[in-house]
Amino acid sequence: MDILVVGSVAFDSVETPFGKADEVLGGSATYFSTSASYFAKVCIVAVVGEDFPDEHVEMLNSKDIDTRGLQRVPGKTFRWKGRYEYDLNQAHTLDTQLNVFSSFDPTIPEDYKDAEIVFLANIDPELQMKVLDQVKNPRIVACDTMNFWIEGKKDALKKLLKRVEILVINEGEAREFAEEPNLVKAAAMILGCGPKTLIVKRGEYGALMFDGKSVFSAPAYPLEDIFDPTGAGDSFAGGFIGHLAASGDSSEANIRKAIIYGSVMASFNVEAFSLERLNSLDKDKIDARYSEFQCLTHFEGI
Ligand code: AMP
Repeated sequence: MDILVVGSVAFDSVETPFGKADEVLGGSATYFSTSASYFAKVCIVAVVGEDFPDEHVEMLNSKDIDTRGLQRVPGKTFRWKGRYEYDLNQAHTLDTQLNVFSSFDPTIPEDYKDAEIVFLANIDPELQMKVLDQVKNPRIVACDTMNFWIEGKKDALKKLLKRVEILVINEGEAREFAEEPNLVKAAAMILGCGPKTLIVKRGEYGALMFDGKSVFSAPAYPLEDIFDPTGAGDSFAGGFIGHLAASGDSSEANIRKAIIYGSVMASFNVEAFSLERLNSLDKDKIDARYSEFQCLTHFEGI
């Protein structure tokens, strides 16, 4: 099953306690599609400026990512500048320049209008809605967002959530959106806004899934070397949605497996800056780490 994704394609400047990267390839749609490309075919809808090098588009194409929906227009590519301190779970945004995204009008390639899985990666919720309005009858619509949009476009986000089956969001952002410090209560409030399933990403503490009937808890992989958490959430979403697309099964049991595939992809991503580590993977490495996750969480009953 193919995946349609809309989100940012960016130049990121990132500082962590372990190093620094300037104007490297980033963006929510970039991380998502590279991660998901190990599982299924992805079509990316986004915009870049004249300053975006061909080699980045070629890299995406080399992963068999369909870039026909990636527009290049006059102006500058989206830029994000962030810093992480010793608590790598918390990104501090220093600067966001929407540039070509501020006037972007997404166009979906004709043969992707009947995509069965749509992922609305982190970007302006009004753009996420414009994409949703163009697709015919997707089986799964999943979505991510961040504090920037929760604070700036909450009404648009609330409207969008009514049409979303799965919301994938950070712990702090779940609390902020729900205006509720208790995560269990925040989850109930968010599920009341539309999504059937809520996945809360908790950085080095893993992820939680709420669907109103059960709760599933996944650990994060205990890594000794973490260089850059940028894109962890998007590569998580790529592995998660990628597995759902490849298996064609969105049962609760399979959503649990997808969460582990998401955790596997996020754990690889944080091992290097930009997309360096994500680009060097293959299915055997991914499956080997999936098995390690299984050992990590296995315990006997009473
Ligand atoms: P995450 O997976 O949450 O670490 O997302 C990191 C990516 O989000 C970076 O590569 C940024 O380019 C991108 N990003 C940061 N702020 C925004 C924003 N306001 N809208 C869309 N993408 C963003």
